Amino acid sequence: MAGQPITLGVMGGGQLGRMFVHAAQAMGYFTAVLDPDPQSPAGRVSHTHIQTDYLDPAGLQQLAQCCAAITTEFENVPAPALRQLALSRPVAPGADAVAIAQDRAQEKAHFVRCGVPCAPYAVIDNAAQLEQALSQNLLPGILKTARLGYDGKGQMRVADAPALRTAWAALKQAPCVLEKMLPLALECSVILARGADGTVVNFPVQRNLHRDGILAVTQVYEGHLPAGLAAQAIDCARSIAQGLNYVGVMCTEFFVLQDGSLIVNEIAPRPHNSGHYSLDACDQSQFDLQVRSLAGLPLTMPRQHSPAIMLNLLGDIWLDAHNAPRTPDWPAVLALPGTHLHLYGKTQARKARKMGHLNVTGVSISQVRQTALKAALILGIEAF
Ligand code: ATP
Ligand code: MG
Repeated sequence: MAGQPITLGVMGGGQLGRMFVHAAQAMGYFTAVLDPDPQSPAGRVSHTHIQTDYLDPAGLQQLAQCCAAITTEFENVPAPALRQLALSRPVAPGADAVAIAQDRAQEKAHFVRCGVPCAPYAVIDNAAQLEQALSQNLLPGILKTARLGYDGKGQMRVADAPALRTAWAALKQAPCVLEKMLPLALECSVILARGADGTVVNFPVQRNLHRDGILAVTQVYEGHLPAGLAAQAIDCARSIAQGLNYVGVMCTEFFVLQDGSLIVNEIAPRPHNSGHYSLDACDQSQFDLQVRSLAGLPLTMPRQHSPAIMLNLLGDIWLDAHNAPRTPDWPAVLALPGTHLHLYGKTQARKARKMGHLNVTGVSISQVRQTALKAALILGIEAF
């Protein structure tokens, strides 16, 4: 890419934006990040960092002016901001798709439209709907705020009618979705990239372990899911993306129930934590595909060349038993062959805060598992 550098922009400066910036820069692009936080992980590594609010007209104008195309890295970027940017520049994913993913009620309605099964649910916008939901056999269930939830935040488990009423009050009577609690056997996700021309490519299906509502471990290798299920999950993810006329990288999260059935949980209109293994175990990462889809470059099917396990590194491992700060024993972890450490440059470690991840690759599944378990033990992460 000789000549004038082309700048790609991203709304949001978290770790996903940082890894997008790295991928874009590796391909010779300049980058611009819009995020109000001066210390944002992506802002710190970008050529340009616009430090305004996401809805600030001057900030948005500056971003549009310097970028050839703009993407987003967290789903709570206000859809109106994306609409404004789209007036003058290609924006992927588009505001309409993001707006649906931002709202659990709209998102579930989209799953129903696509014919992809999701958990039985009721929309609760007012007290009458709450009372009505009680007759729909949704308890025990999970009450989730329709908007602005992540990492299990804005969710309450409710066993009975009084608990539901109390939970809704605790969530300040915000618009919510009540979902039936399902008997999960396992969780998995599919990451795909879709180009403006409708080309779709996808990564293999990831198997995910959540702890306290936060992704803890992702495993991706042959035979980690019951046969047939993976193909079904990929089909569902593709129809959801197609139905949204989606452009960019998208993750679809699924539940597999104890009876073997596949249920869609939610989508993320961006790269996803469960796809971080692709940085080291695939010939293209999810961020490479985000760059390609944004820049209108060809999308080719990514190939996984190594079995992979990803351990999420939460702030907890920077704290000892007395909550005093400590540095995890990186030399011991990195002495294990096939470990790849990714840290996001966050200065403050807090419990449950995503600080980085460790990818483990190797020649065989058993070797990768053994290495990942050793690393987990060193870091004080529960075995899986
Ligand atoms: P994130 O955005 O980080 O994925 P979130 O806050 O959007 O999380 P969900 O994905 O809705 O939250 O739920 C978090 C976890 O809670 C799920 O991965 C699953 O382990 C559990 N969970 C959510 N809904 C249900 C359900 N209906 N039945 C059983 N378990 C559930
Ligand atoms: Mg989720």
